[in-house]
Amino acid sequence: MPKIKKVKKNAPPPAGYSKLEPTLTKYQAKLKQAQKVDTTTNKHASLWKIYQIDHQISRYVYDMYVNKRISRELYDWLLLQSYVNKDLIAKWKKPGYEKLCCVSCIMEKNHGGTCICRVPKVKLLENDNEDKVKTECITCGCKGCASTD
Ligand SMILES: [Zn+2]
Ligand SMILES: [Zn+2]
Repeated sequence: MPKIKKVKKNAPPPAGYSKLEPTLTKYQAKLKQAQKVDTTTNKHASLWKIYQIDHQISRYVYDMYVNKRISRELYDWLLLQSYVNKDLIAKWKKPGYEKLCCVSCIMEKNHGGTCICRVPKVKLLENDNEDKVKTECITCGCKGCASTD
């Protein structure tokens, strides 16, 4: 097994970072914009935006790593930075959680059980209550992130 070099948080970016930098910078700017929005008028919607961007950045970095487009060293380094949501990525590695939208969805205390967006669409249709039931995740606005959807 090749030895994996331990990366430090304050270390300079490993090789390959410049390839991701423009995209990451773009996402960071979007995030800042979303955070500036007045949260008093539409609290939920503005928070959703932040969660969604957070999800997109994490997904971008994770996909790059899974498709071997970035090195393990760079991936580890990015995880140490505040760019990505480490907890969310950790969940994606588990079967059935590949598309999880936000970590709150699986935390019982926030939803009093599994979030509605985690219920597969087929199940919702089976029960014929698709339009009667709110299918959005209250934390991030996700409209369904079950792995089978
Ligand atoms: Zn969801
Ligand atoms: Zn969610």
